[in-house]
Amino acid sequence: MKNAYLNKQYDAFKKRYPNEKEYLQALHHVLVSVDDIIDDHPEYEKRNIIERLLEPERVISFRVTWLDDNNNVCVNRGYRVQHSSLIGPYKGGLRFHPSVTQSVLKFLAFEQTLKNSLTRLPMGGGKGGSDFDPKGKSDREIMTFCQAFMRELFHHLGEDVDVPAGDIGVGQREVGYLYGYYKKLTNQVTSSMTGKDISIGGSLVRKEATGYGLAYFVNAALKKIKDTSLKGKDVIISGSGNVAVYAAEKVKELGGKVIAMSDSTGYIHCEDGVDIEAIKVIKEEKRDCIDTYPQYDAKGKYHKGPENMWKVNADIALPCATQNELNEDAVKYLIDNDIMMVAEGANMPTTEDGIALLRDNNILFAPGKAANAGGVLVSGLEIAQSAQFDSWSFEKINKRLKAMMETIFQEIYDTAKTYDHENDLQFGVNVFSFTKLAKAMIQQGVV
Ligand code: NDP
Repeated sequence: MKNAYLNKQYDAFKKRYPNEKEYLQALHHVLVSVDDIIDDHPEYEKRNIIERLLEPERVISFRVTWLDDNNNVCVNRGYRVQHSSLIGPYKGGLRFHPSVTQSVLKFLAFEQTLKNSLTRLPMGGGKGGSDFDPKGKSDREIMTFCQAFMRELFHHLGEDVDVPAGDIGVGQREVGYLYGYYKKLTNQVTSSMTGKDISIGGSLVRKEATGYGLAYFVNAALKKIKDTSLKGKDVIISGSGNVAVYAAEKVKELGGKVIAMSDSTGYIHCEDGVDIEAIKVIKEEKRDCIDTYPQYDAKGKYHKGPENMWKVNADIALPCATQNELNEDAVKYLIDNDIMMVAEGANMPTTEDGIALLRDNNILFAPGKAANAGGVLVSGLEIAQSAQFDSWSFEKINKRLKAMMETIFQEIYDTAKTYDHENDLQFGVNVFSFTKLAKAMIQQGVV
């Protein structure tokens, strides 16, 4: 970075949080982009916007104690990072995964703030979760854990304060248990969680929103920048969870062919196209491993090691699993296979080295902050429906999702172009969101 103020701030964060590597990585992504525009905005340094925007407003951490099926007393760590309420109530998912740390949630909450500002809905940014591992737990254990977690978190939530949703390890089942217990504790039926099943006040299209939104974004970018579309393209998708499955479904609907998908153990490769319904049965119904896929479709071959999926020859790669899954080595495989585009369904799945390599090789790159914004957008629509005591049709919400993803693409594309960074969507999203938030901060004074 050229700018002295940015360097000073980044060095201070590195010193203050030396062990929070994911958080520092997410901050660095944004500061590098802002470096090119900061000299045009002396008010940022004057009002210390950088330090105020990078530091979360509040970090809550707590102990979660619960009993497993054998009456063992188990202890986990729970967190909620309330990063920014500049634009609205804190909004962002809960993640249950053994890799959850304060650093991971701080990076997710920071990115969520920037992402939510793109949606034009009044939502701030937050993220929370626990190092609890849902894998192998009985349904009763999941419910018991969710209730113990909510017993602590509920103090900090509310429809005008903080509205969580799901993320890795927290799907509709867990949201249902968390929300049910929140109601019990508060004796209030409010829109204090999104991602609920439709039967308990959820929204149609929420389940599909992130994956569908990603495919809409990719199509819009391909059309504008490459004068083509998903039609006829071979696509590889990492993960086989909520985002990956519905990205695959929409890619197929838009004429693309998904030829490989993965989970944390390995990947399946199907030249004729993955049977997405089979993936739904394996992952949503049976909560099983993707190595069982050949039982449903004999043409699909399972291979160990999810990282090897990036060697599969394809036109488009959609990392939809987890942070830093697409590293420099994986990007080299993609480049060797002449990949046309990489679009992030997950949050920060591509390492900084990986992104640099994509940029050096002129490969179109869509950052998750923009490309996966569909989920939170429809969460916002879930809140709007609850507030109106209404429920909208699938068509209406899907149409709005598509239109908004196209608008997000256009706005960040235009921002990049304005600053002579044409087609650099990473620069476009960081500068667009940052300037919007900086303005909101200046408007509200020193608080
Ligand atoms: P899920 O828990 O539904 O699915 C995660 C999937 O990723 C699982 O299939 C898991 O496999 C797989 N996985 C984990 N690690 C790896 C790895 N190293 N390589 C390949 N696959 C792996 O999570 P979501 O789909 O909800 O979230 C995925 C990503 O998308 C996260 O980064 C999340 O923050 C982001 N996101 C999610 C949104 C949402 O609406 N859900 C919104 C915006 C972003 P296994 O089954 O073996 O564990």
